[in-house]
Amino acid sequence: MDYGFSKEQEMIRKEMARFCKKELSREYVAWMDENVDFPPGELWEKFREIGIFQAYIPEEYGGEAISVLDSMISYEEICKASMSVALAVGASIGFGARFIGELGSKEQKEKYLPLLGEGKAKMCMALTEPAGGTDILGAISTTAEEKEGRWVINGEKVFITGAHASDYMITICRTQMDAKPSESLSIFLVPSNSEGITITRIPKISCHHCDSVGITFSNVEIPTENLIGTRNGGWYEMLTVLNPERIGCAVMGVGLMAAAYEDAFQYAQQRHAFGGPISRFQILQHYLADMYINLENARNLTYKAAWLCDQGKPYHLEATMAKLVASEGALHAGRFGAEIMGGYGICMEYPMQRYLRDAYQLQFSPISNEMSKNMLMQFQGLPKSWA
Ligand SMILES: Cc1cc2nc3c(=O)[nH]c(=O)nc-3n(C[C@H](O)[C@H](O)[C@H](O)COP(=O)(O)OP(=O)(O)OC[C@H]3O[C@@H](n4cnc5c(N)ncnc54)[C@H](O)[C@@H]3O)c2cc1C
Repeated sequence: MDYGFSKEQEMIRKEMARFCKKELSREYVAWMDENVDFPPGELWEKFREIGIFQAYIPEEYGGEAISVLDSMISYEEICKASMSVALAVGASIGFGARFIGELGSKEQKEKYLPLLGEGKAKMCMALTEPAGGTDILGAISTTAEEKEGRWVINGEKVFITGAHASDYMITICRTQMDAKPSESLSIFLVPSNSEGITITRIPKISCHHCDSVGITFSNVEIPTENLIGTRNGGWYEMLTVLNPERIGCAVMGVGLMAAAYEDAFQYAQQRHAFGGPISRFQILQHYLADMYINLENARNLTYKAAWLCDQGKPYHLEATMAKLVASEGALHAGRFGAEIMGGYGICMEYPMQRYLRDAYQLQFSPISNEMSKNMLMQFQGLPKSWA
């Protein structure tokens, strides 16, 4: 067993850390958090210049096809600097490149993968509906009907990350009403500027500079060739594509935890009370020790899941555990990081309050921690405890 990064991987990490230090300074991230609902174009351009989007595209479409493990190593640094930016960049790559790369036709791959690789097309994924996200099969009611050589979409989606800034929405709809939901879903590529689309902001406490929005589709017409994958086969196709999303979300928790731990560790040494640094108080050391242990655990699980994925081995168990441990660890780190900083922990002047706010959304997105535990025991052979 070798738990270390290779020289190349260490270089990837260092380069992204250097990039983030320069382009995602604390001041700039705080400014974005208060002023924008998506990373500005000039920042997108800088990510484009370092080839971040290209890195994930298959080589035959002009990309570098780097491994999931390598991508997570560089992604952790972005997550540490700003989870909102990581989400914005990750949604386009994780949803756009994966759905089209895995399920797209040759024509779709030729048309869209180079655009994604050049960072010229932003994509999001619209699955969740107002009636519920955990029980999405029971809730989904957005329909796509084939009429006169077009698909016509009607319905409503909610919490769709980055949809307001996207060029295309990967949208999951029912295409057959008289079959089981799992055998009646199809996936579509919907141009975001299509007539009949209305976007509604959802103000929330977390990830201010990457909004998740509501979308209404009212008789939205798209060409028949915008079906991705097979008609009515979308549910099972989508599940295979979405598995690595849990690894990506786990790494967000790891990045948040690392940032909160480092800030709290440093603060505890600088802040004085009763004639010395507060870092000498055992209870605060215990808070830090718990954060440090959670971070190590979450990182190990996350990188193990990424490694298994690259080896073509089953990784759903590890990815689910990683997301759970990392999201809970991130919330704990924000909570106790703020505790260590006293009143300053909740002041906008310091990023600790942002880590705490951002960590909340990882508890139930993309899958809730309760549902994750249901699944873990189902994977272990216990009876399915839901439905
Ligand atoms: C900020 C944010 C960004 C998001 N981005 C996207 C996106 O880009 N695209 C997209 O499609 N979706 C997105 N989502 C949706 C996300 O996937 C859902 O919020 C998630 O699936 C939970 O669904 P829900 O919020 O409807 O909660 P519900 O499903 O209503 O769950 C409510 C509670 O009931 C619990 N529960 C439900 N069923 C069970 C059960 N069987 N056993 C135990 N407990 C259960 C849940 O764990 C939870 O605690 C996002 C959500 C948020 C908040």
